[in-house]
Amino acid sequence: MFDRILIANRGEIACRIIKTARRLGIKTVAVYSDADANARHVRLADEAVHIGPAPARESYLLADRLIAAAKKTGAQAIHPGYGFLSENVEFAETCAREGIVFVGPPASAISAMGLKDAAKKLMEAANVPVVPGYHGDNQDDDFLRGEAAKIGYPVLIKAVAGGGGKGMRRVDDAAEFDASLASARREAKAAFGNDACLIEKYITKPRHIEIQVFADKHGNVVHLFERDCSLQRRHQKVVEEAPAPHMPDYLRAAMGAAAVTAAAAIGYEGAGTIEFIVDVANGIEDAPFYFMEMNTRLQVEHPVTEMITGQDLVEWQLRVAAGEVLPLAQEQLAICGHALEVRIYAEDPARGFLPSIGRLLHLGFPTTDSHVRVDTGVEQGDEVSMHYDPMIAKLIVWDRDRASAVRRMKGALGQCAIAGLASNVAFLGRVAGNADFIAGDVDTGFIDRHLEDLVPTDSGASDRVLALAAVDHLLRLREQYTATARASGDPYNPWGAADGWRMNGQTDLTLRFDDGHSIREILVSFDGDGWCFDFGGHSMKVRALRGQDGELRADLGGETLRAIVVRAGHDVSVIIGGVTRRVQYYDPGVAAEEGTSTGGGITAPMPGKVTRVMVAAGDSVTRGTPLLILEAMKMEHTMTAPVDGTVAALHVGEGDQVTEGSVLAVVEAAEA
Ligand code: ADP
Ligand code: ADP
Ligand code: MG
Repeated sequence: MFDRILIANRGEIACRIIKTARRLGIKTVAVYSDADANARHVRLADEAVHIGPAPARESYLLADRLIAAAKKTGAQAIHPGYGFLSENVEFAETCAREGIVFVGPPASAISAMGLKDAAKKLMEAANVPVVPGYHGDNQDDDFLRGEAAKIGYPVLIKAVAGGGGKGMRRVDDAAEFDASLASARREAKAAFGNDACLIEKYITKPRHIEIQVFADKHGNVVHLFERDCSLQRRHQKVVEEAPAPHMPDYLRAAMGAAAVTAAAAIGYEGAGTIEFIVDVANGIEDAPFYFMEMNTRLQVEHPVTEMITGQDLVEWQLRVAAGEVLPLAQEQLAICGHALEVRIYAEDPARGFLPSIGRLLHLGFPTTDSHVRVDTGVEQGDEVSMHYDPMIAKLIVWDRDRASAVRRMKGALGQCAIAGLASNVAFLGRVAGNADFIAGDVDTGFIDRHLEDLVPTDSGASDRVLALAAVDHLLRLREQYTATARASGDPYNPWGAADGWRMNGQTDLTLRFDDGHSIREILVSFDGDGWCFDFGGHSMKVRALRGQDGELRADLGGETLRAIVVRAGHDVSVIIGGVTRRVQYYDPGVAAEEGTSTGGGITAPMPGKVTRVMVAAGDSVTRGTPLLILEAMKMEHTMTAPVDGTVAALHVGEGDQVTEGSVLAVVEAAEA
């Protein structure tokens, strides 16, 4: 086994690999860009090497820097994680040439599966069923249109070099074919530098079921059963589980055997995933399945397999890379219970799932135990930047059966607490509570089909949320008075000081919060050691205290609940049961002052590219209206109007490259 390995990655997967290495007594070397100097993976590793500026292509994607870092620190092997260089043939070859073990398959196996067309041809030859379609070499547009007609609409155009759902277009009839092919080619060219496409029959009711395979250098190949990743949005996985709901034994055996055949056919070594698409138009019994692609690396969703098999797949990877035989044979592997994983993203479902960047002002996860696991690369106070993937964490649960696991997931999501940026936690909670999901009635159309229920339209903050924002504000005032009294050597006890404030002639006050729809008023009157809140029409008796942990315990008119309220300036995040609601403390004095300002220029927070412009000069906008989208690396950032007013100037157009700090647009505030 190795003494020291370098991890050529960042975020949750780098932390995940460090955990196993540490358990095995292997020293770890982290690498980091400027943006990650103080990141969690750097803090966890035994040592860390700086490899360049924030953009991945100037740091995490630079093979030479990684090899140099491994040599300098004496690392014998490099674990690439997923993404970045994990499926890069040249990098695997360079490692081999430099005498460093690449924790992954041989370059030849990555190459065999690298392009979807070549992979499909290989699988056909090995008698593994592939999705019907054209995956030959002829790239002539007219020819491909002819093939699409032969296959029969709807068809799916796929970039042969595709990944992450990019370069794919569903085409429903011949009239749209040319435009879709052109746009798939453009996207593929930009993302992968290769615009070749293949055409597949579009399966209208598919499930994505993949098989985890493992092979060693001694000719042994096993599979570790399936994962169902049908819950997707834009062809990207959101929820994954193992085993697949309602999976018949014979289908598991057939798919497992096909996956092992596929891995053996390319001389595979290490961890790999064979992705299949299962046509469930007539249910899962006797459903046909087809090879889609192979991911020649550790998969994001590998933890669900670990939870049902009791195995550590990173340990398996390291053992295989070190030349050991597979830890277990096929007949020693069994499925125990059911596991689910959700990907918690910094994104805003209410705004079309746009990535949301910023500082994690608060980050709370459920307590972890044998049932609940959290894999994350960030901690409270860290920044989710626009340079990398916006995943905050993976939440994984295990239980005896699927129904219990789903319940446990719902409970665990309720204990997540995220403030500072938008997340999909509430969305995931609604998925876990959806009747069809609970019944295991899943296919890749699930999220789109249920979108209205999963992303309900926002109708302003509830009284509960406002009451908690107000309670936090009042407790803060009390805390401030207490601190001031203490600092001034006031002999009175803290509560006395707070009471003193209250008795200083003030018997009630009005608090206002902007919930994005309107300014909401609460008339507060002091009532013993609590308050009475009047919302203008109805009122509520309120008692509350802040626990040692900062959590609020409140009694709102007889309803008792716990909540976390995070205040940053005027920004208030109220978190109840995993769901975060943001409101703004509204100070009429300050608002009047701001109202007279011009609103002013909207500047680019980062260098990037303007991908969309949603307004024109002269348009009237309200505060929060999206103006344009700026893309930096893989992240999109929506720039919104800071005030109600008019777009006085627009300095950029779609496709423009902008530098940090450049003025993109000017919004002039409306007359108050
Ligand atoms: P999976 O099927 O495991 O979701 P994907 O191919 O979608 O696999 O990508 C795996 C992970 O790697 C995702 O989290 C994705 O965001 C990330 N990723 C994909 N391509 C890149 C890249 N070029 N650079 C960095 N990360 C990437
Ligand atoms: P990527 O490399 O981007 O992961 P895949 O070929 O694995 O591309 O496909 C991604 C997703 O797109 C699948 O999980 C599935 O939901 C959908 N998909 C792929 N092929 C088809 C098809 N022929 N018909 C319907 N949906 C498909
Ligand atoms: Mg895929």
